[in-house]
Amino acid sequence: MIKYLLVIAVVLVAFYIWRHNRRVEAQQEAEREHAERQRRTRRTPAAPDAMVTCRHCGLHLPASEAIKGSLGYYCGQEHRRFAEG
Ligand SMILES: [Zn+2]
Repeated sequence: MIKYLLVIAVVLVAFYIWRHNRRVEAQQEAEREHAERQRRTRRTPAAPDAMVTCRHCGLHLPASEAIKGSLGYYCGQEHRRFAEG
């Protein structure tokens, strides 16, 4: 009779440990997902460079690569000279 009680006690202890480990794992998983979600929302895509049009030839190019003249943007110094003299 005492043998069965011992077996039941061992099974209960094993079940308790298993459940405890599962709870810890679930908590760690939730924390990982939370951190991942925060990281994803914090990282915003870089703002795209504004596109401008060359006033001389009509070429579209990023504003950072364009030449800014007194009348507007140009694809190069040559077109700025053609348009503005
Ligand atoms: Zn041009």
